[in-house]
Amino acid sequence: MEEVTLAFLPLPGKGHLTSAVELAKRLVKQKPFSITILMMRFPEPDTDAYIAYIKSVAASGLNIRFVDLPTIQIPPSLESQGPLTFLPLFIESHKPLVKDAITKIRASTKTRVAALIIDFFVTTMIDVTMELGIPAYIYFPSGTDLLALMLYLPILHTQIPCEFHEYQGEIEIPGMQPLPPNIMPTAVMNKKKEMYTWFVHHGRRFRETQGIIINTFAKLQPTALEAVADGRCLPDHATPPIYPVGPLIRLDDKSQSKSSGLIEWLDQQPHASVVFLCFGSMGAFAPPQVKEMALGLEKSGHRFLWSLRCPSSENPTMPVDAHLDQVLPDGFLDRTKGWGLVWPSWVPQIAILAHPAVGGFVSHCGWNSILESLWFGVPILAWPLYAEQRLNAFQLVKDYGLAVELRLDFDGDGLVSAEELERGVRCLMEDSEEGMKVRKRMKEMGEASRNSVKDGGSSFASLERLADLPSHGSTFPKTDEIARKSCDRCMRILTNHT
Ligand code: UDP
Repeated sequence: MEEVTLAFLPLPGKGHLTSAVELAKRLVKQKPFSITILMMRFPEPDTDAYIAYIKSVAASGLNIRFVDLPTIQIPPSLESQGPLTFLPLFIESHKPLVKDAITKIRASTKTRVAALIIDFFVTTMIDVTMELGIPAYIYFPSGTDLLALMLYLPILHTQIPCEFHEYQGEIEIPGMQPLPPNIMPTAVMNKKKEMYTWFVHHGRRFRETQGIIINTFAKLQPTALEAVADGRCLPDHATPPIYPVGPLIRLDDKSQSKSSGLIEWLDQQPHASVVFLCFGSMGAFAPPQVKEMALGLEKSGHRFLWSLRCPSSENPTMPVDAHLDQVLPDGFLDRTKGWGLVWPSWVPQIAILAHPAVGGFVSHCGWNSILESLWFGVPILAWPLYAEQRLNAFQLVKDYGLAVELRLDFDGDGLVSAEELERGVRCLMEDSEEGMKVRKRMKEMGEASRNSVKDGGSSFASLERLADLPSHGSTFPKTDEIARKSCDRCMRILTNHT
């Protein structure tokens, strides 16, 4: 029988790679094909946890293998500015390496490479799939609001010639309520920067693919998903089929619960009493903000667990562990002893959100964090920091009713005062009208998220459709035909869930 593999090209880094690998795990459990994950590596060394994760999946007995691509040298002047600056060059340099890797797989093992599934930042790799004659799919690790925005960005580009922050009106994107311009993703906030051009370029190239696989579920973002699936974000073009397969969360991480003392501390706290603060892989705060946060938490009187990291002077995107004695106000640790815990480094976020003592989450609103919070039904206080987090936070608060708003001054110095954090934490944790509404909604949506990936759920159905694709042989159905079927299906799923 013919060997078939699906090749994946995820973006390195926890935020994008983990959910792509979780997708691979689910797909190989569905059908007897293999998955080959082509691994690009950023210049900075991988963390031990990252290496351990890859090793554990490779050794899991699942039909997944990892192929390391040769390392690309990035000029030090670009490297020091972080991945977003060197990403275009980094990806372009990988084109011959990806082509070579796929050619070798085909030749050496006589395996049919049924498709290449690429991260949404990697659209230039569509050129390689065209040269090789294999279909390309996008894997989109963030939410549908960002996808709708990116598909529609080439149109916004002509409609709004000025910078978004100078624009006087609201931004209209199909499937979403009108958006204030200052919540647009940081990547598009400066049109003179190369990253903006790349985002417009990615939005244009999505339409050349055979499908877009997205880490969301039908009930969470129904109107945006509907607008994308029925082609309103891509007028005059056939929209590729959309596969909402989320939430893709790494729930089987055994290392998560081993973090000396932290989970044991939570074990001693009452049910739903602790507010947890954590800000993703890049969230870091300078001393003046840390001081306000500490005072706000102390004044709120609520139990807290705070993962605190500080900016690095060497690499703006890589926070370093905090020196608590240098950044916290005098006597803070003594005064909060027993009811507050500050953890000066990375924490096992999933194990913490899963813990019954946790009753609220102050989050930067990274997409993985949102899905993880939803899964465990923990309501959010939204404190967006970078990337598309302002958009996520706005939608969570204003549209989905899943988060309490922290009033942020996007146009000023950005400092959140102790009083504002105290207000937000009280609203989240106490029986305020807003807090109770958000808690109720979060509980319902958490259940919907877990149901969506069960047999019979909407994301499970999308995954089944996706897992069927390799069996189509080398001739895939025409995009238009799949698009129509996918839209019909997507609509049916949406109708069943609303
Ligand atoms: N995370 C964690 N511990 C930390 C910080 C983050 O385990 O101290 C995990 C978190 O559970 C999530 C990921 O890192 O899976 C962060 O992804 P997200 O999309 O939320 O934010 P990003 O880091 O991409 O900004």
